[in-house]
Amino acid sequence: MTPPPMPVDTSILPDLKADLAAKPRELFINGEFVPAKSGETFDVIDPATGQVFAQAASGGAEDVDLAVQAARKCFDSGAWSAMPPAQRARIMMKLAELIEANASRIALTETLDNGMPLMMGYFGAVMAASETLRYNAGWCTKIGGETFTPSHPGEWHGFTQREPVGVVGGIVPWNFPFVMGVAKMAQALAAGCTIVLKPAEQTPLSTVILGELIAEAGFPEGTVNIVTGFGATAGAALVEHEQVDKISFTGSTVTGKQIVKACTGNLKRVTLELGGKSPVIIFDDANLAKAIPAAAMGIFGNAGQVCAAGSRLFVHEKVRDQVLEGVTAMAKGLKVGSGLDPASQMGPLVSDAQFARVTGYIESALSEGAKVHVGGEKASVEGSEGGYFIQPTVLTDTVAGMKAVEEEIFGPVLATMTFGDDDLETIAAAANNTQYGLNASVFTQDITRGLKMAKRIKSGMVNINGAGGGPDPAMPLGGFKQSGWGRENGRAGVEAFTEVKSVTVNLG
Ligand code: ADP
Ligand code: MG
Repeated sequence: MTPPPMPVDTSILPDLKADLAAKPRELFINGEFVPAKSGETFDVIDPATGQVFAQAASGGAEDVDLAVQAARKCFDSGAWSAMPPAQRARIMMKLAELIEANASRIALTETLDNGMPLMMGYFGAVMAASETLRYNAGWCTKIGGETFTPSHPGEWHGFTQREPVGVVGGIVPWNFPFVMGVAKMAQALAAGCTIVLKPAEQTPLSTVILGELIAEAGFPEGTVNIVTGFGATAGAALVEHEQVDKISFTGSTVTGKQIVKACTGNLKRVTLELGGKSPVIIFDDANLAKAIPAAAMGIFGNAGQVCAAGSRLFVHEKVRDQVLEGVTAMAKGLKVGSGLDPASQMGPLVSDAQFARVTGYIESALSEGAKVHVGGEKASVEGSEGGYFIQPTVLTDTVAGMKAVEEEIFGPVLATMTFGDDDLETIAAAANNTQYGLNASVFTQDITRGLKMAKRIKSGMVNINGAGGGPDPAMPLGGFKQSGWGRENGRAGVEAFTEVKSVTVNLG
């Protein structure tokens, strides 16, 4: 099969790199690009080389305060929140167009910064972001309430209306920097909120481009503000700020818990999209030609740096050898390399810290008695010796209780378990034996069995005969248990940026 033509114009890369090297990226506050008040910047590293290739402003508490004030002023003035919904939708649609018009620059920046293959930068960053903007633009004109007949004495009319929650702090992780920031922003904007976005310190650059496009799209000043910087400084200042009404966070469960504590000061609304340790269950009647690649890419895609990654494989013992052989063949066949190389199917891990974390989990699994079936080592990539590449890895002899089975690794490391009997309760109990509950996949030709499993699995998302596939802006995304609070996407996602007001009218 010939791959589709590369939709990204890579000829702009030398100019893009020169421009990134020439000047630090700035904060976007109240419609203007400004340096951090401290004048400080931080290094931005290309994970495919380990080299610094850009600098970004290191926002601190003072900068966050200015950004929040801008968002507050814009919100309170009604410049965005009281704008006719159809007009808000138009501006959001315009931003979607601008994103697509700048597709090559955004995709290349995402790949340089995060390491993801360029095709993923294009489809997973640019196109997914413009689609989520268009989807959420549609909600501007559709958010509404309900009507009631209160049971009070006399004649009454009651209704609810949904109002924007106010100023939002959006804290974004490094695994899909552009689309995650855009998705949070799009839902907040559809609800009528204003926002301060803080991208992750590992991957600030594509969000800065978003700021440029926002300036062009026609949003009132202060609607969207972007503060690049570290979690412990910029992030902490945002979650503690008294003028922020809601935090929408995506990241690790550990940080999510810290954020909940920090939000108690003014009882901010909080939604959390956190970690996972998602099961992939393959029954002996599954269509293995589909199940095997889906299971493999469900953990190797984006080098496993995906919250919904299927990291625990449960396979029926009758098909265990065949599945293991198939996933192993895919692991060996995957081309690991720089995301800029069009042949690459898996890029590097995002940072040296993430590389140390993933290899640490592999070592701990071995010390607890697991075996490496394939992979397990640093991947050597010619011309990219300083990069954070790791081989796609499959572990066997993994059992419940091992760290690599219990904890989220966030790398291309699959733990494999088998089951022998067909008792769905037993299989579901094993799949549910985790603190997380984000995603799950079930492969079986028996749709009744698939649906029964979907009922028994405690997770916010279940895929039958498919893994991953990427989030759909229309379908709620989020987790049970310690995978989070609330949902993003769909109606639920937009409503999470609103307050409900009950209005009662005495008609007597
Ligand atoms: P990782 O541990 O892989 O860096 P995190 O969940 O800590 O993942 O990071 C996700 C996002 O949360 C990043 O934007 C990061 O800067 C931010 N962050 C980290 N710590 C805090 C904190 N204490 N308060 C607010 N934001 C934080
Ligand atoms: Mg980087």
